[in-house]
Amino acid sequence: MPRPSSKERIRQFLLANIGTVVTSLQIRDAAGPRVSEWARRVRELREDEGWAILTHNDSTSLKPGQYLLKEMPPERSEVGFARDISARLRAEVLDRNGFTCQMCGLTPGEIDPSTGRKVRLHLGHIKDRSLGGRDELSNLRALCSTCNQGAKNITTEKPTGLWLLSQIRRAGLDEQRAVYHWLRNKFGDE
Ligand SMILES: [Zn+2]
Repeated sequence: MPRPSSKERIRQFLLANIGTVVTSLQIRDAAGPRVSEWARRVRELREDEGWAILTHNDSTSLKPGQYLLKEMPPERSEVGFARDISARLRAEVLDRNGFTCQMCGLTPGEIDPSTGRKVRLHLGHIKDRSLGGRDELSNLRALCSTCNQGAKNITTEKPTGLWLLSQIRRAGLDEQRAVYHWLRNKFGDE
């Protein structure tokens, strides 16, 4: 009988501990002997399969080395950012979308004000797979985890220039400076 893979063992261990804080040592033990890549397996569960595994980066109640699977993970078929999309296609989509969530405009590493968590980008299907949407450049877009789960209430209409300017004018100097740097970075000295 084949032994379960280290990832499968981590999967089972975390599923048995939903809602309970576990340590990196426990995960490493669960992964099996001589497994050095357990952290990458955990990251794959998070990023490729959408598991809500929290670390100290996500929650101040966790210490470094502690992990918490917050809730029952999504069925594998519900995961829109399927892992069989090639790395090249993935890179093309992210590049075309400027590494920016196409719904809320946040970029990786920023703190999402609606969740307090660091933004991670995924690929979302514009036309869902269940409706025949294909894994191709024209049907994929970059979305943060929150928008990908449909959890943000944002209209798909893009903001108008006038509205944007009005918001920037009423923002504080630091915010205006941040916008200025972002635009300069994007457009250079056009
Ligand atoms: Zn978003």
